[in-house]
Amino acid sequence: MSDEELTAWIASAARAIAAYYGTFPVSRAIVTVHGGGGGGVSSGRTVGVRGTGRIAIAVGNAATPADLKTNWELVHEMVHLAFPSMNDAPWIEEGLATYVEPLVRARAGLAPGADIWRWLVWGLPRGQEALAGSGLDGARSWAATYWGGALFCFDADVAIREKTGGKKSLDDALRAIVREGGNVTVSWPLERTLAVGDRGTGTTVLRDDYAGMRSRPPRDDLPGLFAKLGVKGEGGENGSLTFDDGAPLAGIRKGITTGK
Ligand SMILES: [Zn+2]
Repeated sequence: MSDEELTAWIASAARAIAAYYGTFPVSRAIVTVHGGGGGGVSSGRTVGVRGTGRIAIAVGNAATPADLKTNWELVHEMVHLAFPSMNDAPWIEEGLATYVEPLVRARAGLAPGADIWRWLVWGLPRGQEALAGSGLDGARSWAATYWGGALFCFDADVAIREKTGGKKSLDDALRAIVREGGNVTVSWPLERTLAVGDRGTGTTVLRDDYAGMRSRPPRDDLPGLFAKLGVKGEGGENGSLTFDDGAPLAGIRKGITTGK
């Protein structure tokens, strides 16, 4: 990969993030690309150090321009820039990046909107199952952290849209957090972060959902909810979905997909 190709890849991810949040979430970020080795794009990691967001990511010799075009890892890492560091809630940091990354890419035209739903249909049942024994506070496994956390974000997004008649969404909560200085360079308690997010939507959904899921298994009827949203079929990489615009919550599905 040439320096120009790598720079264009980083710039397009950064523009997609800025479009989603309405601003780039940190005033300064350093992205270090580790080259060499036989693999593709891997090993992304994001931290905040003295006011600067730092992302490290590996791009091995097997990576192709097509891989960069379809890559999700860098946008996932940049979502981490836009959320405060948490001392003891990895599920919200990873769950949020898992849920928001496909939204950011689809809305920027970097991925088809159907990809959002292929991954939610694939991953959310895994999160639900993984949280059954622990609730969010006890989430430590990969599935509980990434997809259990994503389930919290998805539930909250749907609930905010329902409660506000589609006027507000999780997007507004996340933008409010960034606006108030919540990004990876600062460490905030979870409760404060959720409260700031709730102020951004004029609801108490984030705090209520957390109270409901922190030590109890989620009670979602996921097949029923996907049906109400008008999503049918198999998720995952080789999955195939159809969308029903006559479903009762089809408007919420479209809002999540398009941001409108
Ligand atoms: Zn992550």
